[in-house]
Amino acid sequence: MPDNAFDAVIVGSGPNGLAAGITLAREGLRVLILEARESPGGGMRTAELTLPGFYHDVCSAVHPMAGMSPFLSTLPLAKFGLEWVHPDVLLAHPLDGGRAAGLWRSVEETAAALPDGDGVRWSRLMSPLLPSARGLFADLLGPLPLLPGHPLALVRFGLSAMRSAVGLAGAKFRSDEAQALFAGNAAHGFLPLDQLFTAAVGMALSLAGHAGGWPVARGGSGAITRALTRYFEALGGEIRCGEEVKDMRGLPAAAAVLFDTGPRAAARLAGDALPPGYRRRLERYRYGPGIFKLDYALSGPVPWINPVCRQAGTVHVGGTMTEIAGAERAVWQGRGSDRPFVLVGQQSVCDATRAPAGQHTLWAYAHVPSGSPQDFSETITSQIERFAPGFRDVILATHAMNPRAVEAYNANNVGGDVIGGVMDLRQMFTRPVARWNPYTTPNPKLFHCSSATPPGAGVHGMCGYHAARTVLRKVFGMRMLPPEASGNQG
Ligand SMILES: Cc1cc2nc3c(=O)[nH]c(=O)nc-3n(C[C@H](O)[C@H](O)[C@H](O)COP(=O)(O)OP(=O)(O)OC[C@H]3O[C@@H](n4cnc5c(N)ncnc54)[C@H](O)[C@@H]3O)c2cc1C
Repeated sequence: MPDNAFDAVIVGSGPNGLAAGITLAREGLRVLILEARESPGGGMRTAELTLPGFYHDVCSAVHPMAGMSPFLSTLPLAKFGLEWVHPDVLLAHPLDGGRAAGLWRSVEETAAALPDGDGVRWSRLMSPLLPSARGLFADLLGPLPLLPGHPLALVRFGLSAMRSAVGLAGAKFRSDEAQALFAGNAAHGFLPLDQLFTAAVGMALSLAGHAGGWPVARGGSGAITRALTRYFEALGGEIRCGEEVKDMRGLPAAAAVLFDTGPRAAARLAGDALPPGYRRRLERYRYGPGIFKLDYALSGPVPWINPVCRQAGTVHVGGTMTEIAGAERAVWQGRGSDRPFVLVGQQSVCDATRAPAGQHTLWAYAHVPSGSPQDFSETITSQIERFAPGFRDVILATHAMNPRAVEAYNANNVGGDVIGGVMDLRQMFTRPVARWNPYTTPNPKLFHCSSATPPGAGVHGMCGYHAARTVLRKVFGMRMLPPEASGNQG
């Protein structure tokens, strides 16, 4: 083993940086994580953004992928203070005229609320995949090259997932409710919904809801960071905050360096340590639309017309599938939409610690053109008011972040892109560049571990986990069992 002060240095402390750190520290390695901001966590932080006593999730809010992650779900995070809270209704999708669709943990309950016979069709799409959902997600969140452990489930999933969201939902469902429910889930992928494979995100999020729920962290997503950092430190790891890495030549000596940064940033930080041709490929990495985020402090709950929306942890605001598809297309054409797709998080509905008694927080963001300086606050508020008349009357204060502010907050969110780069078919399999093992670089000491590697965005830690396994194998000659096989249930 090389003789350095640290075995590994990780640049960035997002869920993937922390996952990589934990994976390496669990094998007895000396690991240092350097974080640019004054506190760790990347996309998992909570802050009093509006008024004292109102705790807002600055980035991630709802965590379907955390529960399905074969890595994160097996860590002993409860021992380090993390408690997941499940809302009664995972997701609601209001429509004009007081109608709404809902997603419940139970397929039967979800189906029972869908009109025009679509309940049976929803059930036919989801139920066959449920028994093998955990295995399926182990494959979907697996590294590349993908060697599926559950090929039959993957083929069954793939036959629906490979279609466009609009194509699949239009063919399977008759009602506005079922089509909108599916399209809203698919729109988390930030792609035009008529593109092939956009049904994949709709299928994955719907199925994750039925299999594991869409939980929030009690006290805020910062609690996930606290639990991960405490566990990492208990394993002997060290985190230094307020240390932005500008050039990797200033890093402490280590046998391996892992970048929990975007590919372009990794190219810049590594400089001559990577060949120019490879750096140029990293610089060509593509980012998609940005977000405009608006957090609200509310004097009471949102007065949604439809009662299902009042109990939901997440609300998808954007109307019918046709409206959502139009809004997403407009964003890709560089135009803001008057009626954008807005993701709304109502964490305080199931977690009373988020706001003073009787009061609430609301987390919302709209997809908007990359880097747009426009203020979409009024557009977002109007969209919510459309399905919850009187909403304006309960607003006490707001806090807005346009795409530029989202990037200033975290350099990984280039142009306000919060999913670590476009997740279309091409880039899904070439994150960050086309390479047999995408976590490696031509320099045997340097590795990528951010959400710009497979399996991509979300709080699941799998990018960091796969990258760390590569480091263990290639730098330290160690082989590990996958977490399911090692029986590590924390
Ligand atoms: C507004 C928003 C809402 C989201 N909502 C959800 C959600 O509800 N559910 C969900 O699952 N996911 C959500 N996500 C996505 C999720 O947060 C990301 O996919 C995830 O955090 C990516 O993890 P990461 O470790 O790859 O990088 P990040 O979380 O981006 O962390 C990277 C870290 O590296 C640090 N860093 C960058 N450059 C340097 C440098 N040069 N030197 C030192 N440190 C550096 C950054 O400060 C940051 O702390 C959301 C993201 C955002 C921004």
